[in-house]
Amino acid sequence: MSPPRLENRLPAEGINSSREHPLREAAWLVGSVLVVFALLLFGVGELARWLAPRLPFEAELKLMAALPAGDPQQGEAARRSRALQALADRVAAAMDLPPGMPIQLRSEARDELNAYATLGGRVRVFDGLYTRIRHEETMAALLAHEIAHVRERHVAAQLGRGLAGSLLLSLLSADAGGMAAQQLLGQGAQLGLFAYSREQEAAADAAALAALQRLYGEVGGLAELLELLREQDGEAPTALRSHPAITERLAAARQLAEARGWTSGRPQRPWPGASAE
Ligand SMILES: [Zn+2]
Repeated sequence: MSPPRLENRLPAEGINSSREHPLREAAWLVGSVLVVFALLLFGVGELARWLAPRLPFEAELKLMAALPAGDPQQGEAARRSRALQALADRVAAAMDLPPGMPIQLRSEARDELNAYATLGGRVRVFDGLYTRIRHEETMAALLAHEIAHVRERHVAAQLGRGLAGSLLLSLLSADAGGMAAQQLLGQGAQLGLFAYSREQEAAADAAALAALQRLYGEVGGLAELLELLREQDGEAPTALRSHPAITERLAAARQLAEARGWTSGRPQRPWPGASAE
């Protein structure tokens, strides 16, 4: 009887690994994680966009009260904020705001042709726009448009989505999430962050027309505002005039005014801000 033949063979190639290239497998894995995260980000963002405007406005007020207030203004800056506030109070009175929705105006020492509304009914108008507006009716159109974004809770919807995103980002990196949230809520909450939809812009313009009609008996201020924004189209786009195209908004405003039988006379009342230059 011959002794058993012992062999020391290597196991066959490939029995313990997939036929896939290992890098390809890793790419799949990383890819799926990214897709799941993106879906999560989108889902949570959309949920927040739906939910935020349904929260009581008081939540916005409390949130903003918890943030550091801006430095007190003096001299010309304070005068501009007072003029804006006085006009905003009259505009808001013509817009049937729900109770408990104060509108707080402040000028901002920046040259861009821009203005924006943020949480808690705060509206900021950049000096670049403040000084180029020549008529009260035109400023009233601007304020009514921004106040409409507050009233319709567009601000909460857009910021809610952004905040949910930064909250989720903070799961990945506390720094990135915290920075994003701070940027959204702090004084710097402005450029590009309020990418309102076409429908939201149209609704704000329509509300501005109605407010102008109630205040002045005609609505020419909105057309003058949009024309001013269009003239300055060579400048870098800002949230106020990037989307949708100004020309389209002008046409829609004319159409709506015509349908309602509102006249669009040239604004007459001087805006006192311009004379102080
Ligand atoms: Zn807008």
